[in-house]
Amino acid sequence: MQPFTYTRPTTAPDAVSAFASAGADARYIAGGTTLYDLMKLNIEQPRHLVDITAIAGLDKIETDGDRLRFEALAPMNAVAANDVIIRDYPVLAEALSKAASQQLRNMARVGGNLLQRTRCMYFRNGADGVYPCNKREPGSGCAALRGLDRGQAVFGTSDACTAVSPGDFPVALVAMDAQLEILGPSGSRTLPIGDLYRLPGDTPHLEFTLAPGEMITAIVVPKTPAGRGSTYHKIRDRESYAFALASAAVALEMDGDQVSRAHIALGGVATKPWRAPEAEQKLAGQRLTPEVALDAGRAAFSGASPGKHNGFKVELGARTVADALLIAAERSRS
Ligand SMILES: Cc1cc2nc3c(=O)[nH]c(=O)nc-3n(C[C@H](O)[C@H](O)[C@H](O)COP(=O)(O)OP(=O)(O)OC[C@H]3O[C@@H](n4cnc5c(N)ncnc54)[C@H](O)[C@@H]3O)c2cc1C
Ligand code: SF4
Repeated sequence: MQPFTYTRPTTAPDAVSAFASAGADARYIAGGTTLYDLMKLNIEQPRHLVDITAIAGLDKIETDGDRLRFEALAPMNAVAANDVIIRDYPVLAEALSKAASQQLRNMARVGGNLLQRTRCMYFRNGADGVYPCNKREPGSGCAALRGLDRGQAVFGTSDACTAVSPGDFPVALVAMDAQLEILGPSGSRTLPIGDLYRLPGDTPHLEFTLAPGEMITAIVVPKTPAGRGSTYHKIRDRESYAFALASAAVALEMDGDQVSRAHIALGGVATKPWRAPEAEQKLAGQRLTPEVALDAGRAAFSGASPGKHNGFKVELGARTVADALLIAAERSRS
């Protein structure tokens, strides 16, 4: 691991200043559950770490008023265990509680969770030069294109990169139209969560739209009646402590037994958290039967482009959406 300096400011403006003085090779660090791993693998090589965990009062969870607001340092487990979130927004609680492990979720913060990097095995295992990877080393090639692509994306891929965006919570936040509060050297701004993530295109090493030194300070989710009729359905190789092969975040506003509005986003299948407008439109005004749910699932995957070994994700993903829709509809009735 490369040597680095370390600072631990106690206010958000001080953290932004510390980052600005440290320069381009700086990184913020929160729970450290993924950044330290990547540093040990020599994939991330920051020269300066700005630890933000001593910033007082940046871990609040607010559920009053017309929105939910989670500050960036709220531990994943604290949000997942919040009674209001569990009752009124199960899609958010489940996306968090089905990620990683209890110990990791105690350490990891919701801000850091949004910025984790891909788990593509060629990205993580090739820093010794065995596998080319455009994301790790721009212009070096992509080992996954001709290698094992079982876990790779079927949406949003390019000739340079097919790596899946790994997080669960961002998928739920995209479905729920969340916004981010950001503080940076040029002041503060808000950003729709979907705009945080870039498609790989020719520059897969650029994954996020944050400017250097910008810090996520909070996540804001508008309150909606669809929250109660919601779920995060995650399919993986083993039932816990594994990333998604396919997942669906679904929230339904119902008018009797008809869908008046559906929110649907997909995980485990795309290079960024993936909204599914084709499926959402197909459901509007429909009575939700198992057949209608499967039709919507298939509509969600109509634009998929699988590779050699990941074609199974198309049918698996469609059925994941269908099951999620039926769970969400059942919840909206209770
Ligand atoms: C074995 C294992 C299994 C896992 N399984 C899953 C899973 O199934 N699903 C899932 O979703 N995740 C999973 N994870 C990932 C885990 O959720 C993340 O490691 C965690 O959420 C990251 O949060 P953190 O606070 O530790 O981030 P850190 O490691 O501290 O930081 C992550 C990144 O975010 C940046 N950063 C942190 N906070 C901020 C901020 N406020 N503003 C700007 N930049 C910031 C850092 O610079 C760094 O680049 C797994 C991790 C491990 C190790
Ligand atoms: S898919 Fe992307 S992350 Fe994986 S090896 Fe190719 S360039 Fe690297």
